[in-house]
Formats: sequence, structure tokens, C-alpha cells
Amino acid sequence: MQELDELIITCPYCGEALDVLIDTSAGAQQYYEDCAVCCAPILFILSEDESGEMLVDVKRDDE
Ligand SMILES: [Zn+2]
Repeated sequence: MQELDELIITCPYCGEALDVLIDTSAGAQQYYEDCAVCCAPILFILSEDESGEMLVDVKRDDE
């Protein structure tokens, strides 16, 4: 079953608030998604903490 969580992130390039859908059923993963505003590739880092809660981190590609 696919679980999609909607959440607001801030683009690390242009600083715009973005509405994104995160697939939390796939577990820890990393992937790129282009910013809808400035089209830069945002690196999404999904990880799970001890209680099974998904944590989402966004980074620039060049950091
Ligand atoms: Zn952006």
C-alpha cells in the first residue's frame, strides 16, 4: 500500500515554500525532485527514527 504524506518544505535554492507529496511507505531513501519554482534539483533525504516516524530533510545538490 502506498502512503503519501503531504508536507511543506522550503526550497534550499530559492527559499520558496513548496507543497510536496512524500511516499513514506518506501522507507529510507534519497531522491531528487525539481523545484516547481526555480527548477533546481532538490535532494530529498528520507529517514526513519526509532519510533518509526519518517524524517524528511532537503538539501542542495552542491552542498
Ligand atoms: Zn526553488
